[in-house]
Amino acid sequence: MVMSPPSLPKTNELGFYEMRFDSVGGLGANLAGQLLAQAAVLGQGLNGAHFSSYGSEKKGSPVKSFVRLGPPDRELRTSNPVDRPHLLAVFHHCLLKVAGTLSGLYPDSILVVNVPDAVDDVRERAKLPSGTLAVLNALDIAVQENTRINTAILGAIVKASGFLDPSAVKEAIANSFGKNHPDKVKSNLKTFDRGFNEVKIKEFPFDGRFEPIPTTRYVPPWGYANAPIGGIIINPGNTVLKDLSASRQGIFPLYHRDRCIDCGLCAMTCPDYVFVWDRVTDKGGHTNMVLRGPNLQYCKGCLKCVEICPVEALTEECERPEFRFTGDPQLWGPIEALVDLERDNEPAKWPQEEGAWWRRVG
Ligand code: SF4
Ligand code: SF4
Repeated sequence: MVMSPPSLPKTNELGFYEMRFDSVGGLGANLAGQLLAQAAVLGQGLNGAHFSSYGSEKKGSPVKSFVRLGPPDRELRTSNPVDRPHLLAVFHHCLLKVAGTLSGLYPDSILVVNVPDAVDDVRERAKLPSGTLAVLNALDIAVQENTRINTAILGAIVKASGFLDPSAVKEAIANSFGKNHPDKVKSNLKTFDRGFNEVKIKEFPFDGRFEPIPTTRYVPPWGYANAPIGGIIINPGNTVLKDLSASRQGIFPLYHRDRCIDCGLCAMTCPDYVFVWDRVTDKGGHTNMVLRGPNLQYCKGCLKCVEICPVEALTEECERPEFRFTGDPQLWGPIEALVDLERDNEPAKWPQEEGAWWRRVG
């Protein structure tokens, strides 16, 4: 039964409430937008539209998903991207570093971020001048419930929005998963409920600490008008700046130096050249290549290396706050600490620094 439509808390000059989800392929932002629009239209009687934008290589590539809602008497005749979102959901905190992610936010917009950190810390990282900030560890919830982060983030979005109906969204989730994955309905509904209940929300009035966010659409430095002809790459070596950690879905390969026999199978199997080696001289004066471990900045979490390793020197682990390596290329050293480890199944036998498992080099 469709209840009487809720009034929208804010609208733009065309009378629409607009949302943008910034994500990477594989995290489920497209489906989340679809479910939310479906719930608002079929479950709450609003007018609405949903569409997404993503590249051809889907997993790991940038994805934007847009939801536009209007009152029942206002037709939606535009499918323009949402440049000025009343609610922006960032599906991975690494995207806070990407230029333009927060572009177009109103001073009182709602920002929802999937991040393990406290809400005040996230405000600092995002340099959010004002507005409502909602944070939740959707990755943690999804790993625990064996689901994906999108239904957890949906719970947080619904709670933070203040007008979306949780039961309508849950019905949309149940209908969607019920068709092809009926075994996933219960776990996804629980994931949604946990996102709804565990999100931390805080309002920040403008206090002058951070620059106001530009109201115009972010324009990348290279576009169709000024990109080099033929797609020429004019800054060789630029892949060193790539950060694939946002592609991982809560699981990563943990390296156990004490078990490793330096066979190199993991490096040959890894599709992204993640493994880092070092040349060392052993006690007999021989030079050997020794694996230092995966540089997890470039790891997308496919776990092929875990499968191929013959001695379980790489194990599948859940990402937890103590594994603070994301985006940091200097994670493994010093090499003598790794090489001289005594045989032991514990991964953290060398000195820890700031709660991290690995010592930094340099
Ligand atoms: S999980 Fe292993 S094989 Fe896959 S990208 Fe990461 S390091 Fe490479
Ligand atoms: S496959 Fe396993 S044993 Fe071989 S180098 Fe990689 S981590 Fe070490």
